[in-house]
Amino acid sequence: AGNVISALTLAQQPRIVPVRLERWQYDVTIGADLIRHAGMLLTPVLRQKRVVIVTDDTVAGLHLPRLLEGLAEAGIHADTITVPPGEGSKTITEYERVTNTLLELAVERGTTVIALGGGVVGDLAGFAAATTLRGLPFAQIPTTLLSQVDSSVGGKTGINTPFGKNLLGAFHQPVAVLADTSALATLPLREIRAGYAEIVKAGLIGDAALFDWCEAHGQAVLDGDPDTQAEAVRLACAFKARIVGDDEREEKKSDGRALLNLGHTFGHALEAELGYDGRLLHGEAVSIGLRLAFLTSVRMGFCTQADLDRITTHLDRLGMPARISDLGHVFSAETLIGHMQRDKKMRDGRLSFVLARGIGHAFTCRDVPDDLVREVLITESCAP
Ligand code: NAD
Ligand code: MG
Repeated sequence: AGNVISALTLAQQPRIVPVRLERWQYDVTIGADLIRHAGMLLTPVLRQKRVVIVTDDTVAGLHLPRLLEGLAEAGIHADTITVPPGEGSKTITEYERVTNTLLELAVERGTTVIALGGGVVGDLAGFAAATTLRGLPFAQIPTTLLSQVDSSVGGKTGINTPFGKNLLGAFHQPVAVLADTSALATLPLREIRAGYAEIVKAGLIGDAALFDWCEAHGQAVLDGDPDTQAEAVRLACAFKARIVGDDEREEKKSDGRALLNLGHTFGHALEAELGYDGRLLHGEAVSIGLRLAFLTSVRMGFCTQADLDRITTHLDRLGMPARISDLGHVFSAETLIGHMQRDKKMRDGRLSFVLARGIGHAFTCRDVPDDLVREVLITESCAP
């Protein structure tokens, strides 16, 4: 796609992160105004000049017209399927509606499904693409910071069930990811912060230089500086691509893809309590979870207090949630531990945590005693 990109008159040269897997390879292209040029950018990877866009009502109102324009300009026929915004669309009901519509539109094996939206649309559209006609090509145009730095890369797709989140799904790798930083201009600051937590996470897991970069440039990312945002997306995608390239299907027992769950055991427990009704965003839960994972690492004797302090200071300075008490809700430690035990990351009846030996040195640990977790939660002003 290199010559296609240089043929464009983009305000800023896009950044490219190649994702190399065992039997598949694609580029994450990052830059301003990519949605408007999606027709040209996607043409080299389309098997048919025909696509079906899946998006949500909010994103459709803001960004769909530019995408349709760009596709039409390249002579690509596009149909659109719209779902309501929010986690509530990752259901079997919406999945059925999307796949029925795809079939009604008489899609063929070469018709590409394009997800235009955040992680909800990406996961839902990706799962529909993975299963319709045993697999349609799939492209991602992520429009939230979270989906640009995290969910659009790596090939996990899926929907929720009454038994838990993301329990029906498939690995389905995209043919291309276009992360348009211009789309972030319409995203509420709260959602930007939520996505930023996953960037900090990447640094804390395995890229100390990325965490240094966050300390220097995090504020500019939250302030909406397009070039700094593009660089943040590049760094986070490059990190995720490295992890996923090494463990595409999360088959490694320790380390590998499982490391991407740093902060998520605590985070999911908080989310389970505050429901998924917008009171607590995933990224907000992760932000707190990251600090708790390091606090646990300090208590276990793996990590220095100085590293924990550095993380707390960074989160505080940027106004990121850092403590359970930031949520203005009294949690019970026992209940939170119960949620952790039900988390699907539990193996052989033991809690599996991602801890760290310092910033950029995460590892999987199965030896965290329940009592220590309880103590950490009580220190964090939870009721016993
Ligand atoms: P989301 O898709 O619900 O988007 C958040 C909100 O922002 C929605 O209301 C949406 O309509 C709105 N929005 C999207 N783009 C916008 C824009 N440019 N301007 C204004 N508003 C916009 O949520 P999300 O945070 O992007 O993704 C969360 C989902 O991602 C969860 O379901 C989670 O399970 C999933 N996820 C998946 C993976 C994976 O690897 N597949 C990884 C992380 C998270
Ligand atoms: Mg996450």
